[in-house]
Amino acid sequence: MAQYTPAALSWLCLILQERFGHSFLLEQSTAGFKLSLVNTPQGYIAFPKLEDDFHQPHSDLPCSQWNAEAEGWQSALNQSLPAPGVSQLPEPLIQQQVDHHIIHYDILGLTYWMLNRVEEIDRTDLDNHGRFPAIHSHAYQHGYLDRPIVDEWLQVLGQVIQKQWPQLELKQHQFSMKVSHDVDSPSLYAFKSWKTIIRMMAGHLLKRRDLKATLQAPWLKLMGGKRIPAQDPYNTFSWLMDVSEANNLTSAFYFICGTTSNMDADYQPEDPRIIKLMEQMHRRGHEIGLHPSYGTYQRPELIKQEADRLRQTLQQAGIQQTEIGGRMHYLRWQHPTTLQAWNDAGMAYDTTLSYADRPGFRCGTCFEYPAFNPVTQQQHKVRIRPLIAMECSVIDDIYLGLGNTFEAEKIFLELKKKCRKLGGCFTTLWHNSYFFNGAELKEMYRRIIEG
Ligand SMILES: [Zn+2]
Repeated sequence: MAQYTPAALSWLCLILQERFGHSFLLEQSTAGFKLSLVNTPQGYIAFPKLEDDFHQPHSDLPCSQWNAEAEGWQSALNQSLPAPGVSQLPEPLIQQQVDHHIIHYDILGLTYWMLNRVEEIDRTDLDNHGRFPAIHSHAYQHGYLDRPIVDEWLQVLGQVIQKQWPQLELKQHQFSMKVSHDVDSPSLYAFKSWKTIIRMMAGHLLKRRDLKATLQAPWLKLMGGKRIPAQDPYNTFSWLMDVSEANNLTSAFYFICGTTSNMDADYQPEDPRIIKLMEQMHRRGHEIGLHPSYGTYQRPELIKQEADRLRQTLQQAGIQQTEIGGRMHYLRWQHPTTLQAWNDAGMAYDTTLSYADRPGFRCGTCFEYPAFNPVTQQQHKVRIRPLIAMECSVIDDIYLGLGNTFEAEKIFLELKKKCRKLGGCFTTLWHNSYFFNGAELKEMYRRIIEG
């Protein structure tokens, strides 16, 4: 049977405390897990079967389904629950005894496995950006990447807790939404060389036969010497803030602060035009964060260096922000190296963890949670805020490829609806530079935010 370290057990208790608002005691013995309530002597919940597979870095686990309603329990999404790790579940799954309940599915092991991304450790089946792709994940292969299964199972556990200790008042969670914008390209023209501008003009004229854009390019480049012109197609910052403010949201803008490859930004964070932008964002109450450059995901010292550069830039601009979080450029992530790097750079949170090639619940949850390193078995200070949907995962041809369509919009809204049902957080990423067709994508974005 899988042996949990004391640190892992105390991390699991922390997850339960954040979810249910009470302190639990979790003990492991040859009889499995025993979950009891601190300061309440009576009763416990037993998990007799712990899955070894939840500690192995691979995706070859079996998967079963459980129909909660058939046993008199409720499922949050009114659907049967996917149960990774087992090929068959006993009936009934949950038994009530004189002074305790027995749950014959390893809900806490599932939580550990999913939240700590155990299946991704040491993987070599990566995409051309070195990322573990959705299509290789257990969730995608078994059709539940669009389900926050950890939250769904914890919601079942909540019902058992409530039956075991009826006097207990469990914490209620309110749905929330987080919008964020990776600033890969703050301007289409301002930071480009004249040589590139001329090449772009030729493209506008010869490939796209767009005379307006051809004439606009040199004009916007000239205007962009002091500040990014309002007419620049990538300068959607003010509009993004307007939309967020109209919906009582705060936008987070993540800036690139280093150059480690030609996949990185064409601006420097200290550029007066960028500082001006950051000042506007800060003045309007929005958040500034870090977007570590392309070559940093396996280089903790570079993530620290870029984080320090952002902190220094903010300080020089007189911008005071109590905590700094962000997201990796291209969602590049090596687990748990990148996680440890975020922690050691003193970051408050990371919000990288979605798959680039498919939207959904990479961590099985839409709740932010304290990170734990499954290799060193240490609890981290940094928190993980799972990303649920990035716009290009849904729209781009190289990923889901739904384009600017009703189907694309529906994917975002369905995921959002699931987060709402669980009382979690719908975290979405929309680049400031991703409104290439102007009005139509802006309207889609607005409907997703308002929907
Ligand atoms: Zn990026």
